[in-house]
Amino acid sequence: MNEEPPKTASSRDRSVPVVAAIGVSAIVVIVFLSLAVLLFRPGTRSRDVDMACNKRLWELGAALRRNAAKNDWQYPPPERWCDALVELGVEPESFRCPGAKRGPCNYAMNPHADPCSAGDVLLLFESEPGWNLFGGPELLCTENHTHGGCSLLFVDGHTEFVEGTWWQAELKWADDEESSAAGD
Ligand SMILES: [Zn+2]
Repeated sequence: MNEEPPKTASSRDRSVPVVAAIGVSAIVVIVFLSLAVLLFRPGTRSRDVDMACNKRLWELGAALRRNAAKNDWQYPPPERWCDALVELGVEPESFRCPGAKRGPCNYAMNPHADPCSAGDVLLLFESEPGWNLFGGPELLCTENHTHGGCSLLFVDGHTEFVEGTWWQAELKWADDEESSAAGD
């Protein structure tokens, strides 16, 4: 009297999970391939490096302002600006451009910048590797990034990532002569 359940129904039930599994596998493969293309496309990766470099420079700028707030609104002496930020707790890797092959620091300070300078005066910029580096345009370095370019930080705290060479002529390394003359 023990009747077995009809076989046709159970085999139809089994085919549904198989179709679903194939569908899910196909979706997983498509998602994985899309992610791989996005993550490993050279352009995307170099943009990530550009942004990471810019973020580090922004963080160094925030640390310089914290340092100034503790020292009568003066930046640390240019010849020890890196040491001063380390004393303030800035991690050593913050001084490295993520695209640079050599360190320990890939940024330099403009010694003419002052917390009271105009907001568009350059404060830190991407440079040759070194430590406590300071100076002018001769130290600018655009070779850490795949397509060229470098990160710049200004006295007002904003950062820019610039490419090409057009921007070099527009950089402001000190308050302009008109405002210094008015101050004298
Ligand atoms: Zn960089």
